[in-house]
Amino acid sequence: MATEQVNCVFCSIINRKLPSSIVYEDEDIIAFMDINPVNKGHTLVVPKIHEQYMCDIPDETSQKIFPLAQRINKNLRRLSEASDSGIKLEAVNLFLADGIAAGQEVYHSHLHVIPRFKGDSFKLHNQYGTPPSRQELDATANRIKQLLQEPSTPQPIQSQTSPKIVPDVIIHN
Ligand SMILES: [Zn+2]
Repeated sequence: MATEQVNCVFCSIINRKLPSSIVYEDEDIIAFMDINPVNKGHTLVVPKIHEQYMCDIPDETSQKIFPLAQRINKNLRRLSEASDSGIKLEAVNLFLADGIAAGQEVYHSHLHVIPRFKGDSFKLHNQYGTPPSRQELDATANRIKQLLQEPSTPQPIQSQTSPKIVPDVIIHN
């Protein structure tokens, strides 16, 4: 069931309080055209539940997001071959910013499906650091591997934008 966050543009779209150009919708997810596209055809795939981070989306919802993005990707490619679509596509970026430092601008998790072509305006400024040693890669891999072997117990991440409201009522025993 969707939760609504006041002043969230995506929640407003989901609840039809703002207009949007919807391409797909079911009880858990929705996809619509980006209002400020990088290139024509730029589509957003959005879980209906309001969570800032994709890692907080329940599995039964998050597992629907990539397959839908995949279908949109395929059909954008088909459309780009139609002379009347105006969609220019040589490649596709699936882009998900899971937090502000990653470039997240709307704090309701979403996956971008972006048609790309050589010379377009979308830029990812990759500044890779010094490559780590194999020992360091193995050590990090082992830490992740151990955690992946634990039963899945997702812990909510403290939101960077909307701090949790702590009730100012103290109950004395
Ligand atoms: Zn929202």
